[in-house]
Amino acid sequence: MFDFGIENGIIVDPERRRLVAANIYISGGKIADITRETHAAAETVNAGGEYIAPGFIDIHAHIESHPTAGLLLARQGVTTAVNGNCGFGQADLNAYFTVTETRGFVINQAQLCGATTLRERVGVADPYMPLSERQLAEAAKLLEEDLQSGAFGLSFGLEYCPETSKQELYTLSRIVAKYGKLVAIHIRTDFFPGLAALDEVIELSRQTGAAVQISHIVYQFGYGMMRHALERIETARRAGIDISCDSGMYTSFATKIGTAVFDEQCFAKWGVSYDSIYMPGGAYAGQTLTRESYLDLRKNHPDDAAIALIGQPSEIPMAFELPYMMASSDAGVLAMNGDDGDSSAAHPQDAGTFPRFLRELVSQRGQLTLPDAISRITSLPAERLGLTDKGKIAVGADADLVVFDPEKLRDNAVYPDRGRSDAPPDGISRVIIGGKTAICAGDTIHTDLGRILRKPNAAWKY
Ligand SMILES: [Zn+2]
Repeated sequence: MFDFGIENGIIVDPERRRLVAANIYISGGKIADITRETHAAAETVNAGGEYIAPGFIDIHAHIESHPTAGLLLARQGVTTAVNGNCGFGQADLNAYFTVTETRGFVINQAQLCGATTLRERVGVADPYMPLSERQLAEAAKLLEEDLQSGAFGLSFGLEYCPETSKQELYTLSRIVAKYGKLVAIHIRTDFFPGLAALDEVIELSRQTGAAVQISHIVYQFGYGMMRHALERIETARRAGIDISCDSGMYTSFATKIGTAVFDEQCFAKWGVSYDSIYMPGGAYAGQTLTRESYLDLRKNHPDDAAIALIGQPSEIPMAFELPYMMASSDAGVLAMNGDDGDSSAAHPQDAGTFPRFLRELVSQRGQLTLPDAISRITSLPAERLGLTDKGKIAVGADADLVVFDPEKLRDNAVYPDRGRSDAPPDGISRVIIGGKTAICAGDTIHTDLGRILRKPNAAWKY
């Protein structure tokens, strides 16, 4: 007798890149059998010929246990999110784990240690200040503690922290390399100057041996220089350098208006004016900026989220021409706006990324096969993160699953000037986490099935 059965589904197997008609039976939160026979189970659902994929793994998010942000990801089929990206991590990882585990959370979460947060923890809040030798040594110690507590690696947000020195970058990355974990990097800048910034992190991986994940490629290069960036990444991979990358599905990134990303020279670099910045919420909600409102926001409301309307749509599918490009959300504008932020006026990436990825790349453009596309959001990130029991449909694997209809799959979230940025997608029938149903036909069944994932420390022995 199994706990749960999903019968008459078509399994999307990302590892073998094929579709297989079968029934899946679950026991104790794990996949217990994959078969064409029928078995008895405490609960059985009929997938009715819909597709069953491993739960999606979002390798780049910022939801940090924010309940609404977590729910928006769950509705898309995401069962595991990686937080602590772009240098923004938790100041006290163990305390954060305890709070989240006590409260419960809708999806699984993995955490990176954030390099900017590390700087703050050693007393350097100003991103334009370099670290002293003593502060760097202290940061290194804190990083090692976080890795031992189960962090999956370290993230840098170099664009937010322009004074991050080469020594800081290399010292911290070497520690992560020692533990065989991941260094996720929001590179130092974007547009054409971003190409040299890309070279910097390729060289970092070459010299330190750190596994480097280059974050949200489209937000760094989706402005006409994507082809150049992809060529550099491919050349490095062919030379054996351990780099990987992810991309979002939207052209316009979002971050706080007060960060270094929006330092005034950005307009010259991008070749745009103040009116290319749109404010989804906060003091200038619903407005594009003028010089006056820009200066006021930078001075008086630096934490308001801003959306830069500067990208080129054709650069997004181009990014996925690389067979190892993962899709990621960068979700968390909502979390940025605080617990009581308006979820309908954030960024559509929070609610639409994964259905949009599958719909555009598979159904609309025919650029990727369904198993290939699914691999970019399941087995590829699982492998990169060392999540050996996730991202696949196999006996013994974690029963994190998504049941969906590719014909009906559609993202409905839009920029807040055009509608709701939190509109749920169509076509996701059921989201299962640890063998139990979190979402069914758009209804939330359970909001406490998610776990904090901890990556064991397997230090390399030289
Ligand atoms: Zn970032």
